Amino acid sequence: MFNAQGESLVPWRLVENWKCVLCGKCCINHRVPLLFKEYARIEPKYGPRSVEPGEKEFYLRILPNGNCFFLRKKGKLFVCRIHNEKPYACRIFPFRISRTAKYGYDELSFFKYGGEAFHVYLEKNCRGIVLGEPSLEFTGRTIPRFLQLYLETVADRKVPTELC
Ligand code: SF4
Ligand code: SF4
Repeated sequence: MFNAQGESLVPWRLVENWKCVLCGKCCINHRVPLLFKEYARIEPKYGPRSVEPGEKEFYLRILPNGNCFFLRKKGKLFVCRIHNEKPYACRIFPFRISRTAKYGYDELSFFKYGGEAFHVYLEKNCRGIVLGEPSLEFTGRTIPRFLQLYLETVADRKVPTELC
């Protein structure tokens, strides 16, 4: 399934597990939108070259080689130079969470957490996704952790995610 940005999404019920393999793919040729408060924090600290304007909002700058301004290569792996303060869009990747079945798959995306209903999808182009029957680790730990991130970000709190 593709959304308006042409991204391919898969509902959580078709995913066995997800673990970041530090491939860096989501940091290359990937436009990262910034919340205004993120822009206000990042631009003064890292300079005007770290961000770029869009039509309605600011984004992290994409360098001419396609890399995010903050992407660094460490041996064969890619790491984020601002891991502890990366924007929300990066912290929640590759998950997409909403209160409604925004991207379809009503039943396959439905996830009940804390008595509330959510719809959970993953961006299929992430290399850390293993398709299959959802594992206990995925449903019991991984998805709840991202749901906490989704909920707590709304309340402006930070939850650690993978080192990607
Ligand atoms: S989140 Fe996915 S695409 Fe991004 S670095 Fe990790 S495995 Fe690669
Ligand atoms: S995780 Fe870091 S390097 Fe990757 S897009 Fe986000 S800010 Fe850039």
